[in-house]
Amino acid sequence: MAVESIMTTYNRLSVAFERGEGSWLYDTDGNKYLDALSGIAVCGLGHAHPAVTHAICDQATKLLHTSNLYTIPLQQQLAERLTQVSGMENVFFGNSGAEANEAAIKLARRYGHTVRNIDNPTIIVMEDSFHGRTMATLSATGNRSAQAGFEPLVSGFVRAPYNDVEAIKKIAENNPNVVAILVEPIQGESGIQIPADDYLNQLRDICDQNEWLLMLDEVQSGNGRSGKYFAYQHNDILPDVVTTAKGLGNGVPIGACLARGTAATILTAGTHGSTYGGNPLSCAAALAVVNTILDENLCERSAELGDKIANGFRNELQHAGYVKEVRNKGMLIAIELTEAGTELAVLAKVKGILLNVTGGGKVVRMLPPLTMTDEEAELLVKTLSQIIRVYAADERSPASDSVSPSNDRRAQ
Ligand SMILES: *Cc1c(COP(=O)(O)O)cnc(C)c1O
Repeated sequence: MAVESIMTTYNRLSVAFERGEGSWLYDTDGNKYLDALSGIAVCGLGHAHPAVTHAICDQATKLLHTSNLYTIPLQQQLAERLTQVSGMENVFFGNSGAEANEAAIKLARRYGHTVRNIDNPTIIVMEDSFHGRTMATLSATGNRSAQAGFEPLVSGFVRAPYNDVEAIKKIAENNPNVVAILVEPIQGESGIQIPADDYLNQLRDICDQNEWLLMLDEVQSGNGRSGKYFAYQHNDILPDVVTTAKGLGNGVPIGACLARGTAATILTAGTHGSTYGGNPLSCAAALAVVNTILDENLCERSAELGDKIANGFRNELQHAGYVKEVRNKGMLIAIELTEAGTELAVLAKVKGILLNVTGGGKVVRMLPPLTMTDEEAELLVKTLSQIIRVYAADERSPASDSVSPSNDRRAQ
């Protein structure tokens, strides 16, 4: 058997893109695809957004990297912008979501040792959560199959069901080592799970009562995706720590861990670091992203267009069997199926639509660019609804991933 030169950590669809523009990707054969996934919530401004392209090109002519041993003015500017928009006080920059969450986990443990005098600080994490693939973030992740084979896991986590405040109260009564809750305001990987409206408010209260840090993982839900800049802003609360990444750089790797109050005082000189984290290139890109999201009112747009798309699907799919529920918070959009339908990602790709199926194969997940136009959104709803109706009617065409789509079968 031939050994591939890339480790097979991903099952890849047989398509390679060479160019993108707005909501569209173009493959190496010249076919175009409507991108309803945005590289998994990364390219929130779509592909080749001029503001980001310009910021990267301009910065590349000046300076890519110095080191965090020196002052980085662009990092300071980005941190100021992020603290303004979030209500947080300071920021640690890394290069990914996992790295942002690692910073949060380390911060919580150090808070336990230095502020709470707890020798075995423990963090409450949720079932079905996703926090990353590094050892600590994998250990925090609530997915046994992702953890299998990587034991021993990092200790110091206790698990509770998502959206279950009573379970958290029980842990509070029984576990004096808890120092923090780490939770996604909306669970992304497990299929856009949206908790009760007051879930975060209740967690905030419990954290206040117990001197725990409320740490929100907004790697996927942040940067305008949920219809607010951060999803916790739907709740009128402030976390102690918030992490973000994905949509922050629109494709340039960057992650951030923001903190407030006591939490903002924990990571002092020498306690944590990252060689690349917050370098001039990634900060120039992220600054352009944040400014564009705010200047072009893309949070409001995300709320409005996300509802429109979800309503469109509800309307188109109301008589289709096989569809359990359509749900969304802004442009985090899910069509939950009654049974697994992993093939839908391939069927959609053949028709020129990019999305992904998650949540145990039962949730069609869409994370379209926040810049998607009304016409593109309508095309997405019409085309995908048709695919699902046909699929539900069990007229599953033998469309194979290896068959190159002819133009008349494509979305446009
Ligand atoms: C994607 C994701 C991560 C991990 O981010 P990476 O950049 O892949 O390390 C962490 N948390 C959530 C909620 C995510 O969606």
